[in-house]
Amino acid sequence: MKSFNYYQPTRLLFGAGRRAETGAAVREIADIVLFVVDPTLLKVAAARVAEVEESLAAAGVRYVRFSDVVPNPTLDSIQRGAELARKEGVKAVVGMGGGSAIDTAKAIAVAATHPGTAWDYLYFKKKPTSATLPIVAISTTSGTGTQTSKVSVFTNTAENCKSAMWNDNLLCRVAIVDPELMVSVPPRVTASTGFDIFTHTFESYINTGASEAVDSIALDAIVRVIRSLPVAVANGGNLAAREDLAWADTLAGQCLANVGTTLPHAAGQPISGHFPKVSHGESLAVIYPAFAEFTWRGAVAKFAKVARLFNPALAAASDEAAAASFPLEIEKFLKLIGLYCRLDDFGITPDDLAPILKHAMEFPDSQGNPVVPSEDDMRNIYLRSFRAA
Ligand code: NAD
Repeated sequence: MKSFNYYQPTRLLFGAGRRAETGAAVREIADIVLFVVDPTLLKVAAARVAEVEESLAAAGVRYVRFSDVVPNPTLDSIQRGAELARKEGVKAVVGMGGGSAIDTAKAIAVAATHPGTAWDYLYFKKKPTSATLPIVAISTTSGTGTQTSKVSVFTNTAENCKSAMWNDNLLCRVAIVDPELMVSVPPRVTASTGFDIFTHTFESYINTGASEAVDSIALDAIVRVIRSLPVAVANGGNLAAREDLAWADTLAGQCLANVGTTLPHAAGQPISGHFPKVSHGESLAVIYPAFAEFTWRGAVAKFAKVARLFNPALAAASDEAAAASFPLEIEKFLKLIGLYCRLDDFGITPDDLAPILKHAMEFPDSQGNPVVPSEDDMRNIYLRSFRAA
């Protein structure tokens, strides 16, 4: 077995109803917190938010609510949150929502305690220090794994650039994963966030830096996504499917924290950076068939193994034949969950590609892809992701 590192210090409270324990868990860390909450939840799940706030108050935790959160979080919103955190003298940040709210909370925890702005602490710039405020996550989507990852993704709108912080200080002190909080997620968001779980685990599994520890949890999570995502898309109230996805998502965050993503994230992230209406999951779904076609020959056994999880009838096929059918299997799965899409569907044209391609080539993720793309390869992957291709 090759040697590897594995680090996961987050205290996890997993299971239906665990949101009621928020106050007690937070009180062990701080008596005053910034409570960063997705504003949509204040409308569609107001009672759930109230339960969490009541739990904080009952435990003697004073909270300052900040709900200026946007999907694909922006630096501006993060800086406003950091200013409020400093003004109120909070000692921790609690984020409740999907990846957008929790990543906003994580970036605020850095920006409130460090000179400059959060943009100065991207993964290739300065490192956030242990001065970072403790972070508590209450996830309400199953997709980004941010509750167990060391990442915060956000966009600098002035530069049209979406990028990320990546540091151990961004690992949450506590993560509360309560599948009852996810039953209100609409079908399209369930599909796109759920597909994101698949991408985190699959890309960590095929990554040239993968390890035994991550391989086994990645495969476990992939099985859960394949069996439960179509169920949750069709019936959002199915709690067993929501639980399966919530656990797969939590495992996926550990894959991200210990290995990480490959080509599709390098290609997809700049799509949302330049076209913020394209959700993270959609930006990945649009790239996946062309990425798979480009990559499968570089990791035949692993592509074959996952192709067989999608389609057990491939058990009798050779590894080569099973791996070659992966692009078709992924296309069928995306159609099953209603997420199959092409760049044209978002109003993107080949003329828009130059800045997207430039940013894609700047991301390090592709270096762990089993076949490392040149700029021409990456351009072809985008071009093959249009309908006419
Ligand atoms: P999101 O947080 O943007 O939420 C998607 C939509 O669902 C929003 O409109 C939100 O208001 C709504 N929503 C959230 N919870 C809901 C609920 N319980 N009921 C009804 N509606 C609900 O989406 P996301 O996919 O969770 O996060 C996306 C962000 O996370 C992107 O910026 C992406 O790049 C980033 N990301 C972060 C990591 C990481 O490790 N930090 C990994 C991958 C992606």
